[in-house]
Amino acid sequence: MEENKRELDEFKRTAGFATTAFRFMSSNRNPAYPRYYEVWYTYAAGYNRKLNRAINNALKSSARIPSEFIEKMYYEYVSPARLGDELTNMGDQMSDSVGDLMRLVEESAGNVGEYGTELRDAATRLSASGSREQATEIVQRVLGATRMMEQSNEKLEAQLNDSRHQIAELQAKLERARTESITDELTGLKNRRHFDKALDAAFPVHREEKQPLCVVMCDIDHFKHFNDTHGHQTGDQVLKLVGLTIAQSLKGRDIPARYGGEEFGIILPGTELEGAAVVAEQLRQAVMDKELVKRSTGQTIGRITMSFGVAMMTDNDTTKSLVSRADACLYQSKHDGRNRVTAEDVLRDEQRLDVA
Ligand code: GH3
Ligand code: MG
Ligand code: MG
Repeated sequence: MEENKRELDEFKRTAGFATTAFRFMSSNRNPAYPRYYEVWYTYAAGYNRKLNRAINNALKSSARIPSEFIEKMYYEYVSPARLGDELTNMGDQMSDSVGDLMRLVEESAGNVGEYGTELRDAATRLSASGSREQATEIVQRVLGATRMMEQSNEKLEAQLNDSRHQIAELQAKLERARTESITDELTGLKNRRHFDKALDAAFPVHREEKQPLCVVMCDIDHFKHFNDTHGHQTGDQVLKLVGLTIAQSLKGRDIPARYGGEEFGIILPGTELEGAAVVAEQLRQAVMDKELVKRSTGQTIGRITMSFGVAMMTDNDTTKSLVSRADACLYQSKHDGRNRVTAEDVLRDEQRLDVA
């Protein structure tokens, strides 16, 4: 029942984005290709900041956005291949730098070898040499070879330094790309993809070590109404604030993520159900304690509340079944009047009562 309502809500919300996307495609006379639709849908949903900034800038200087521009937007900001391309590029640069280094090292090993031969040769000839002139000539040659060796060492050092800088720069870029790929842009929390991956990774470890693991799902109450009243931008600021509040209230190995629009998921490794319910309760309180002030006007706009669901991993759980139980608890909280925490033991107890 709740599941049906949820699906219907989700349909209504996303159908709004779809209608807006179609309006944009038609007013800009862009063909309704799937990738153009994806760009406009993403723009309408508003969760890809860079894309929206780029399109808004383009809209400032031109009334119509041509298809070529949308094409460009797709490959720059939306295409799933984008990050892969970037990483491939960086990988290529990295192997070029390493290739340069290898050549340098081989070259310098060659130089050292030649220098050694030259010295050995000189020693043999010195011991056999009869005259002072011959000896002087041999020493001069050794000095010449030493000078060349010094010069090639300086060159090597400069090139090594250069490569070191390049590699450090690439490492930083790689780290940035990695962080970007697992972060939700608006709130700075982890994104859904990372949440799923982290949960997948935590499951076998916790099973093996017989450690408890909980998931908390939470969702802002009546947020549609909040957006309708105060505007989407203020809504975004609230999402940021909620993200910050969640991040500040958690510690250690806990993993908070933005699961969807105004829904968050938190993985609590090594935590029993009771402890997880306490964490959720503290979060509920922390969110409710914040008095919201509209940035642009300084006007106080009240408070928001959130509903929570908490579930603990069982022996038979898959990551999916655990998340959906936490979700069922969250919807129970909504059903019971919102602004509350439901842990799954309560649900189980109620079902037992129903049966009795
Ligand atoms: P409920 O208490 O049942 O959760 O009611 P609700 O209004 O929060 O739920 P519903 O699912 O009907 O609406 C969610 C709303 O959240 C729709 C949309 O206005 C808002 N929303 C989703 N994502 C974003 C976002 O990224 N930014 C902003 N500002 N609003 C968002
Ligand atoms: Mg909501
Ligand atoms: Mg929701």
